[in-house]
Amino acid sequence: MQRLQAFKYELMPTGGQRRDMRRFAGSCRFVFNKALALQKERHEQGEKKLGYVGLCKLLTEWRNGMETPWLKDAPTHPLQQALKDLERAYANFFARRADFPRFKKKGQRDSFRYPDPKQIKLDQADSRIFLPKLGWLRYRNSRDVQGTVKNVTVSSSGGKWYVSIQTEREVEQPIPQGGAVGIDMGIVRFATLSDGTFYAPLNSFKRHEDRLRRAQQAMSRKTKFSSNWRRAKARVQRIHSRIGNARRDFLHKTTTTISQNHAMVCIEDLQVRNMSRSAAGTAEAPGRNVRAKSGLNKAILDQGWFEFRRQLDYKLAWSGRYLIAVPPHNTSRTCPCCGYGSKDNRRTQVQFLCVECGFEENADLVGAINILRAGHARCACEVSDAVRSPAAGTHRSDSSEHDAGVSTVGIPRL
Ligand SMILES: [Zn+2]
Repeated sequence: MQRLQAFKYELMPTGGQRRDMRRFAGSCRFVFNKALALQKERHEQGEKKLGYVGLCKLLTEWRNGMETPWLKDAPTHPLQQALKDLERAYANFFARRADFPRFKKKGQRDSFRYPDPKQIKLDQADSRIFLPKLGWLRYRNSRDVQGTVKNVTVSSSGGKWYVSIQTEREVEQPIPQGGAVGIDMGIVRFATLSDGTFYAPLNSFKRHEDRLRRAQQAMSRKTKFSSNWRRAKARVQRIHSRIGNARRDFLHKTTTTISQNHAMVCIEDLQVRNMSRSAAGTAEAPGRNVRAKSGLNKAILDQGWFEFRRQLDYKLAWSGRYLIAVPPHNTSRTCPCCGYGSKDNRRTQVQFLCVECGFEENADLVGAINILRAGHARCACEVSDAVRSPAAGTHRSDSSEHDAGVSTVGIPRL
């Protein structure tokens, strides 16, 4: 079984390297935007879109021309990769997976990619990596890189630079161990397992919310583009990336623990995106309880349910295990003891009390037990179906398909 994995580290560049990385990211952005402008112009004049090869020819002209001689200072392959990215953006647009490609702005996901492993040297013993036109860069070696290097992406976030090393390796097909478990996702408890363990909510955003709001207010009082404004903006970005880091760390630890201890994990098939979108409603049909619901939505997004599921999915797949998504029908109001289902069973958010047999338990735990049962039922009929594997029960979204099997360990990405 082949496993693709990304290893991400913080770089410790010299002043010169920092300057060069900024320039290279800028050159890639310039090439992307110039090519996008050109494609738009061609479209307006009724001409056909240029292909990747055609764009690469133009790139050579730009590099050798008089107008933009500084493009020559940047490494060739990352510039070509910027054109590849544009190609992909167009392809995603035509396949209706994404909006029309947009111009890139400075300071928004600054990055560039080295696609050729022959030009990259990794010296793990000395915690350094060699990249064309940058030379040897030192990085914070938080864990070993496993597998053969396929490509390397350099990116910047919150004033720091990172290197993400994509690798490929052959791993033995693992034998799944452990039993089955159901998980109920909630606001009070982030996740409750059917065996009774639960994970407290992270609320990373709430903790930082005040600090973030103050920083944003301070920024809004400054004159735009002044040096004070820039400083305030950097502060806002720093708080943002700290929130993101804390959240990712929590999610990775939780999903790793769960996936290592259970052979089959059942979760509710919640449409996280729909839930978070619908609260405000439309102008014709404004949503009810918008305030309360937006509070809930914020909590959902804050805790990253979607990301939680994405990580569980690929981590379980890596170890030969299964994620089963079950439809969320009545899981919170059916009695696991006698099977009686009624909304009266759940008078409060926390407490479950069966009006038929008197069974009493924490409501989230009851939900988790019911999810596990539904998962077992679903698994059984899919296996007897003999066409679809149990893993087919997980509906991967576009985004999880896109980076399925790619994790970021060490210093997590944004
Ligand atoms: Zn009952």
